[in-house]
Amino acid sequence: DAVDHYGVIGHPVAHSKSPEIHAAFARQTGQRIAYARCPAPLDGFAATVRALREQGYKGLNVTVPFKLEAADLADSLSARARAAGAVNTLLFSDAGIEGENTDGAGLVADIVDNAGLALAGRRILLLGAGGAARGALLPLLHQGPDQIVIANRGAASAHALAAHFGAHAGRAGQVQGCAMDAIDGAFDLVINATSASLAAAVPAVPAGAFKPGALALDMMYGREPTPFMAFAAGHGAIARDGLGMLVGQAAEAFYLWRGVRPDARAVLEQLRAQAALDPR
Ligand code: NDP
Repeated sequence: DAVDHYGVIGHPVAHSKSPEIHAAFARQTGQRIAYARCPAPLDGFAATVRALREQGYKGLNVTVPFKLEAADLADSLSARARAAGAVNTLLFSDAGIEGENTDGAGLVADIVDNAGLALAGRRILLLGAGGAARGALLPLLHQGPDQIVIANRGAASAHALAAHFGAHAGRAGQVQGCAMDAIDGAFDLVINATSASLAAAVPAVPAGAFKPGALALDMMYGREPTPFMAFAAGHGAIARDGLGMLVGQAAEAFYLWRGVRPDARAVLEQLRAQAALDPR
């Protein structure tokens, strides 16, 4: 009876791995929670959130395509959510609906803790300028990289993001925007935050963008290796998918809701082992 209810809201959510991940966190930490898939119609996000809150839900993860609407709906936003203009975690309290964005923190945790790449002084290339890129930028900047170059097919949105996040940077020129075909130099970390992998395409990044042994992370997961991962591995990089980021953002949400930090790495290893047994 003392079970607290959470869920993931999206359209669609049938294939979301979040219920498995949060169930594993709950087992690990001895927390009594229930976690459900909460589908919402495309025109019914706010109504569904309100109904779930009235049913006694304590919080929700928000996925495609509702992250921007969730930022509008929230009564208050964290600094990260405000900078991103997008919310992936809602916390219901007496004070109202709080909006947080844990995607970037999950990404950074995966890169630093799981892949073992410290980001201070590094050169980072971020491909894409959509919601996922926006969520990543503030947590990446907080790691103190030498430079972040944002490259996008539509260069105007890369320039706009660079101008927006340049205001949060430590020094002038630390964040730059450019078109994909204007990418210059080599990087320690290349992040694919485009949705090109969904269409089995590779963003038009030059082969020379990868330093030898660079980390190349595709935010996409599930279909492994993605064309971007194969391209990067073929040019001397160590390729990584977005599953660790997914588990990382879930761990940050779980901590926000429960005040207990789960062991994200152990759950990531379980998911990888399951995927190896049951390749789909
Ligand atoms: P958006 O729709 O907001 O942005 C899409 C971006 O991809 C834009 O920058 C767009 O460029 C670019 N793009 C699309 N198609 C191509 C292409 N063929 N070549 C080059 N660039 C392309 O998507 P999101 O930012 O929300 O999501 C991006 C990806 O990140 C998705 O694959 C998503 O699944 C993944 N993701 C993973 C998470 C995780 O936990 N692992 C969390 C969040 C997202 P343009 O502006 O020129 O159109």
